[in-house]
Formats: sequence, C-alpha cells, structure tokens
Amino acid sequence: MRQGSLVRAPGRHRATGASASRGRRPAWLGAVVLTVLAVLVPLWLWQARPFDSRHGFGVDSPPAGIGAAQAPLGAPPTMPGGTGGYTFMRMQANGTDPVAYDPCRPIHFTTSTVGLPPSGDALVREAVATMSEASGLRFVDDGLTDEAPAPERDPYQPDRYGDRWAPVYIAFATPDQIPRLAGGTVGLGGSTPRAAGDGALVYVTGSVWLDAKAMDDLLAAGRRDSARAVVEHEIGHVLGLNHVSDGSQLMSLTGGAGAGPADGDRRGLAILGRGVCRPDL
Ligand SMILES: [Zn+2]
Repeated sequence: MRQGSLVRAPGRHRATGASASRGRRPAWLGAVVLTVLAVLVPLWLWQARPFDSRHGFGVDSPPAGIGAAQAPLGAPPTMPGGTGGYTFMRMQANGTDPVAYDPCRPIHFTTSTVGLPPSGDALVREAVATMSEASGLRFVDDGLTDEAPAPERDPYQPDRYGDRWAPVYIAFATPDQIPRLAGGTVGLGGSTPRAAGDGALVYVTGSVWLDAKAMDDLLAAGRRDSARAVVEHEIGHVLGLNHVSDGSQLMSLTGGAGAGPADGDRRGLAILGRGVCRPDL
C-alpha cells in the first residue's frame, strides 16, 4: 500500500510533464522522425536488396556505365580469309547478332589462388593476351583472388570487388568443387548476360573453370601449348564462341592444334569484338 502510493506519485508527476509537452511534439518530433526514416529506409533498401532487377528495381546491379568509355577501347582485327567456321553461344532476339561484351569497357579478369599451380597465372595471362588480340577487346588483369570455385556465382559482389560487375573469374578447380568437370572434362567457360534498356543482351562477367588435375598432367608432360589452348578455348566460350566440328579450330571439342585461334575462330572473335557499347548497363 505504501509502496503503491510511492510509485503512483512519480507516475502522476511524469504524466503531468508529458501532457505539458504534448502540444509541442508535432512541431519538431514528427519532422525528426520523417527525416530519420527518409535516410534509413533507402539505406535499408540498398543494403537488403529485397527486389530483383528482373522485376525492374535494379538493386542487384552496380550503377550503369561503370568504367565505360565513349568509344570502343580496342580495334577489332580485320576478318581473316580461310575456310574455318564459327558459331556463337547465344544470339540476340533478332537472330542475326551474337550476344557479346561491351567493347567500350575493359573485361576485368581475376585468377583464383585456390588450386593455382606454379606458373598457372602466367599461363592464364598468355591465353588472355592471345584472345584479346584476336577479338580487339581490352582485358585488365585484376590479379589474384581468394574467391573459391563454386557452380553458382553472383555477377555482382560489391563486398569483394567493389561497386562494379564482378571480374571474369578463372580457376583451377576439382570436380568436387565444380561437378560439371567430372567425366574427363578439361575445362568449362561461359558468361552471364544482362538485358540493356532496349532488351539487347550484353555479357557482364563470366567464369573459366580448368580441371586442376588434367592441367597439371599437361604441364608435367611438357605440353604447355596444349594447356594454353585449353585456357584459350574456354576464354573463347567466355567471349561468346561455341563449338565447331572442324577439328583444326580452337573451338572444336578437341581444342584445335594448340597454335592459338585458327581462321574460323578469328572471324568469330572479330565479330564478337564489334558489339554495341552499352553505357546503360
Ligand atoms: Zn568447349
């Protein structure tokens, strides 16, 4: 009883004070709450990314045009003669143009330290240089990454790679890490397209997975040209080339003669180097 009255007295006192300030609250407290919400809600939307860009909200993509120049960075080589053919991994909806990278920005690539054999990164750089020269597309070496090989890869990883599309990822992997390497597959390669404003598809990043054991065996046997041809073939897939039946071409299932891209490969690569610049992605 005594306790109760002791509690009640300060309670009443506070209530009186609160009612005195109640009249002033809308004048400033509402504005403060609205200001805090105006800052926190967009921040939360940005962090949580609850919407998918395919539904039009664009929050799983970097800002458009990161690293994009006004004109193509390199000059695609003239189409070589010869008889070799080429095919493309994916065509635009018009059925005539292949899906390709944006030639107005460099293709960044990174090589995984996970499973990397001695001189593996040098082999990758040589293969990239050959395919860059044949396509006219500019590549930038982002160095080594500790990103581990996994079948599903997010094309946008701002925590690891900053506010841009993740670089093309090249790794020496095992079938345990990449199950599609099982059964004697020496390498895999491909790229991820995104739709520009008009619906045209543009590759934004890609992956190359090389079977670590098979590549080790080639290098141990002194077959460095064959090992490099495997990497070039997979980068061919990354740039947008598909297989051909002509065994003399790099993009044949057997990977050609180990002397780099042949005439058909080079014609296909020259077309892939003439993609349309897409600063809206
Ligand atoms: Zn292939």
